[in-house]
Amino acid sequence: MEERFDNDKIISTDEINELLGKLKFLEEESIQIMSTKGGKNNQRFESWAVGKIMAMEHLNREVMYKVFRSLWYTKEEVHFVALKEGAVIVKFSCLEDRSQILNNMPWLFDKCLFSMAPFVKGKNIASYEFWLSPFWLRVYNIPIEVMDRQLALDVGNAIGELMAIDWKDRNGAWTEFMRLKVKIDISKPLRRVMKFASEDGGEMIGVIKYERLPNFCYMCGMIGHNTKKCQNSTEGVGINDSNLHYGSWIRVPIMNPDQDKNMRRNGVEIVKTTIHTNEDKEES
Ligand SMILES: [Zn+2]
Repeated sequence: MEERFDNDKIISTDEINELLGKLKFLEEESIQIMSTKGGKNNQRFESWAVGKIMAMEHLNREVMYKVFRSLWYTKEEVHFVALKEGAVIVKFSCLEDRSQILNNMPWLFDKCLFSMAPFVKGKNIASYEFWLSPFWLRVYNIPIEVMDRQLALDVGNAIGELMAIDWKDRNGAWTEFMRLKVKIDISKPLRRVMKFASEDGGEMIGVIKYERLPNFCYMCGMIGHNTKKCQNSTEGVGINDSNLHYGSWIRVPIMNPDQDKNMRRNGVEIVKTTIHTNEDKEES
């Protein structure tokens, strides 16, 4: 008969470390192996990133890796190592590749968000802030005469952490909408509007639309689950038009790549670069 001991259980890394501190090592156990890092192709953690699939859906990771490899088109190889709970180490081979991919966040696979951050040596995976993710968003319905840089700064910082402003729409001014890159907290419902007080004491309501928005819930407005799987709704059972407070109107429609290229504007002003290390320079 198999006998189980009381201490025959899985213990945490912290507990193991505490235990190791108390142990007296044998002579053989005290011999150290040198970790040698030679050769050009040896990946180094300095250029790694950590990612996490921010969705309830079970995704085929192997397919995701394949898709990202082809989309990213990195200069050097990139390797993926799956961790627990949807987390993945993304081993870029050079900083340049990592910077480019992190700058072009958000990345979606199967309409689910793959949130990424630079790898930090020794940092517990659970303490990465994956719920903070940059998005390009547009604010419509602002009178043309009030759209200026200060308003863009105020709006961006009211929505989240403003990272960049694309302030050239046509000939150095906005016409239809302001375009901002903001790091938003996806553990909260998506913000739909921005209210402004006008000089005459009235109120203007700007409408926010998001570019490359992953699947989200039309009932509670959260990224990470779809409307049918919502557990946050307090409106009782059933989905009907009256309890859908969100909809596809919050997305900027995806255009084909050629159109997208024409839309690309070159007036991006970087406001914050806190998400990256010094080596990861932010660009548009
Ligand atoms: Zn929901």
